[in-house]
Amino acid sequence: MAPLPYDDRDGWIWLDGDFVPWRQASVHVLSHALHYASSVFEGERAYGGEVFKLTEHSERLVKSAASLGFDIPYDVAAINAATRATIAKNGLSDCYVRPVAWRGAEMIGVSAQACRPHVAIAAWEWGAYYSDLRLTRAIYDRPAPNTAPVQSKAAGLYMICTLSKHAAEAKGFGDALMLDYEGYVAETTGANLFMVKGDTLHTPIADRFLDGITRRTVIELAQARGYEVVERRIRPEELASADEIFVTGTAAEVTPVRAIDELSFKIGHVTQRLSEDYAALTRGQSRAEAAA
Ligand code: PMP
Repeated sequence: MAPLPYDDRDGWIWLDGDFVPWRQASVHVLSHALHYASSVFEGERAYGGEVFKLTEHSERLVKSAASLGFDIPYDVAAINAATRATIAKNGLSDCYVRPVAWRGAEMIGVSAQACRPHVAIAAWEWGAYYSDLRLTRAIYDRPAPNTAPVQSKAAGLYMICTLSKHAAEAKGFGDALMLDYEGYVAETTGANLFMVKGDTLHTPIADRFLDGITRRTVIELAQARGYEVVERRIRPEELASADEIFVTGTAAEVTPVRAIDELSFKIGHVTQRLSEDYAALTRGQSRAEAAA
């Protein structure tokens, strides 16, 4: 069955401070964001009604907007409160949450000085992001840090992700492995990557792509388990000698990578253990908050 289109659902969307019926949460076609990608967003998951690392996500939304040169007219506490209200208003418990901020229609042209910023928050039930994940080399590389605000969740950065993901899907793969501008391993189109060798985890230094909140959480979980974590540049050829490879992200959580082009990988005990630890942490949080 085709999924329900995202503009034709029941529920409420928080838009610029008020709840509006889901189908009425629309923007004008001459919004600056639509023409010039002046938009930033977050991807969050709630477990038991509470977003995991909510404040980190709200802070990143504000920072992403600042990196595009606009201020979100709500502080982090207000965004947190609006996020919680959106989940509650829609009667959701385990769900995905999508805050988005963009420049409005006061100007249309490269300059956007007078455009008013807008913010919306939507939430919906959502299952696993990846199943049986197989990657292929992406058709685009991540841009160099001097070509774009590479550590933000700016909508414009996802243009090459959609193109790369479509090309991967056309070849029968689940996602694309993107390299950085120097040819080192970077990430997938929506998740960070780890390689396991023995009791050591290797992951690319996140100075040229999104330093995911899940990535940082999993590094802490791995260290708590006694694994060594090495952040370094990784050449794509090195992946062939990995015992296990997995990706991390809010949507992906901890997902084993089964193949990269012709290379296959097993789902090993390190990935398994970290996936369980991440699940326990996210679920444990909701238990603690339910008790509070
Ligand atoms: N890289 C990209 C390009 C992403 O879109 C995401 C998802 N936000 C990630 C990495 C993982 O980030 P996080 O763990 O904060 O969700």
